[in-house]
Amino acid sequence: MNAEVRIITTQVGIVGGGPAGLMLSHLLSRAGIENIVIETRDHETIRNTHRAGILEAGTVRMLSETGVDGRVLTEGHRHDGVDLRFNGTSHRLDFQDLVGESVWLYGQTEIFVDLAAARKRDGGDVRFSVTDTEVADLETDVPKIRFTDANGQRFEIRPDIVAGTDGSKGICKHAIPKEKRTDNFIAYPFAWFGILTEAPASAPELIYAQSEHGFALISQRNEHLQRMYFQCDPEENPDDWSDDQIWAELQRRVDGPDGLTLKRGPITEKMVLPFRSYVCEPMRHGNMFLAGDAGHTVPPTGAKGLNLAFADVQVLFDAIEAHYATGSDELLDGYSEKVLDRVWKAQNFSYWITTMLHSRQDQSTFERKRIQGELNNIVSSRFGQQYFAEAYTGWPSA
Ligand SMILES: Cc1cc2nc3c(=O)[nH]c(=O)nc-3n(C[C@H](O)[C@H](O)[C@H](O)COP(=O)(O)OP(=O)(O)OC[C@H]3O[C@@H](n4cnc5c(N)ncnc54)[C@H](O)[C@@H]3O)c2cc1C
Repeated sequence: MNAEVRIITTQVGIVGGGPAGLMLSHLLSRAGIENIVIETRDHETIRNTHRAGILEAGTVRMLSETGVDGRVLTEGHRHDGVDLRFNGTSHRLDFQDLVGESVWLYGQTEIFVDLAAARKRDGGDVRFSVTDTEVADLETDVPKIRFTDANGQRFEIRPDIVAGTDGSKGICKHAIPKEKRTDNFIAYPFAWFGILTEAPASAPELIYAQSEHGFALISQRNEHLQRMYFQCDPEENPDDWSDDQIWAELQRRVDGPDGLTLKRGPITEKMVLPFRSYVCEPMRHGNMFLAGDAGHTVPPTGAKGLNLAFADVQVLFDAIEAHYATGSDELLDGYSEKVLDRVWKAQNFSYWITTMLHSRQDQSTFERKRIQGELNNIVSSRFGQQYFAEAYTGWPSA
């Protein structure tokens, strides 16, 4: 280890090289604003971590129209609707007809590949496999980011602005003193048992299935690989489940008079995903701005997490660009309030769809029947369908 600390000055220091950090770095570099990204994980680990899959139109435009890569349009799959399935019957919500929008199925792993390749192509400074990250002096004009690189060299970045894009387990939000921060948090009494399977698609679009046995989501990745989830106990151990048990559980949650039968294949990944909702307020402290999962997390039911991260990044980029172009901090000063407006809408949608579609052990007959009424309200009314469709495909930017 080299004991000397090397100092780097730059305009924006970005902590976290997930989708939010890399997208921000890309936009800043295009605008000629110097920046450095530091990331704890290595390239291969991030590339192989399967997470988000459903992208709103605005997210797709950010990838395809800002010069990251057009692969999302050629290799991603456009979905013009979803099936809401309850009492064994599917009800298709046609997003194009309802709100004139679509969503795209394109894995977060591919987004990472595209963003990392674009950063490399454009000479971006992204440092993977760093350790011991610290942020300090955030309320001064010279905030600091300290880290040790993969070779054991200690660095101190002195940027004008720190972007905290280090995800839900990151350090940045904890650098906001407790008395200046509100942690809005709830946990849910259920989780998702998720699988990746090498099988053909069971349906052309996503199926959100509510049943007396609990929720299931039948999702896709590509022609050969599918993603499926079923509601489980947060303490469930994936290794306790054989492939046959998993298929039987998924199947009974989609069974119905139409004879829908899931197409099976080898299961290549099993995981249990706990559900949480969290919002940090404010999303700014001094010269540090939080974006993406670093500032908020949603349960995955509404497919909002990565889309919200990109929405934050767009607002933050506009504010930083205005700061350097005009010297005005008006947009930076309004950043937290502006992004939180969308964040809370997404929190509400994610909470609503989660509690409506998942069952609870202590659910009364009244509550079960009330939920049937709620689902019927959505599918039997164009207004109900439009409410769902607008939220799912993403509200227009303010
Ligand atoms: C199973 C699953 C399914 C999902 N499905 C969807 C979906 O369909 N649609 C959707 O929009 N969202 C979905 N999400 C949510 C989505 O994956 C996240 O919202 C998204 O990854 C947020 O991006 P981010 O860049 O803010 O954070 P992250 O992707 O978490 O990136 C943060 C990065 O910061 C790094 N980091 C952490 N600490 C430090 C540190 N101290 N120093 C430096 N680097 C650090 C981490 O290694 C990480 O790479 C899903 C999530 C899961 C788990």
